[in-house]
Amino acid sequence: DFVLKPVVPEEFQVRVSNLIQLRHALDYLEDQHRILYDMAMHDRLTSAYNRHYINERTQVLIREAKEACSPLSLIVLDIDHFKRVNDNYGHSMGDAVLVAVATVLSEHIGKSGVVARMGGEEFMVVLPGIDEFTGSGIAEKTREIIEDLEPCGLSVTASFGIAQLRPEESYESLFGRADSAMYEAKRAGRNQVVSAE
Ligand code: GH3
Ligand code: MG
Ligand code: MG
Repeated sequence: DFVLKPVVPEEFQVRVSNLIQLRHALDYLEDQHRILYDMAMHDRLTSAYNRHYINERTQVLIREAKEACSPLSLIVLDIDHFKRVNDNYGHSMGDAVLVAVATVLSEHIGKSGVVARMGGEEFMVVLPGIDEFTGSGIAEKTREIIEDLEPCGLSVTASFGIAQLRPEESYESLFGRADSAMYEAKRAGRNQVVSAE
């Protein structure tokens, strides 16, 4: 903004005050935008990333892995007999277990990958730069951590499926193989890690 000489103090004051108000309004809008963006990416209950976010992020990570000819692994995990927690101890206890599992997952995976809640009691972890051998080790360690966690004093375990990206493979195919491996782990007795075909 500008004022013409001779400067009228009252007009000058009004113009400065208007500019300050505009700045505050823009800052507020920016904050609101950031909050909305954050809400759109995260699961409300666990604060982990949501399915929408990880789907988009994984497509980018897969493209980058292919370009760099570097490995990428994907883990799908599902809490075992979770319905029993709800049935026996109530829905809010179930919620607390979900939060506890999501928290240790994020803490344990840390910077080596991206953790998301896909829905219900199913989570996904993408591990860029990590092959199936190392990824299986990470999955196995995570399985042990969840087994030892005993959130809210309850015995909780999860079944894991892991798959490494193949050349030319799509995200859907990679996810499908990890998901099938997870169901194989369920069939084989739960609380274990199965590598995809
Ligand atoms: P499995 O070992 O075969 O995975 O058995 P499960 O009991 O874990 O699987 P099932 O699909 O039968 O049950 C999942 C339950 O998770 C049913 C659903 O009510 C519950 N659930 C889904 N989302 C939430 C949630 O946000 N909070 C709570 N408390 N429960 C949830
Ligand atoms: Mg389950
Ligand atoms: Mg499930």
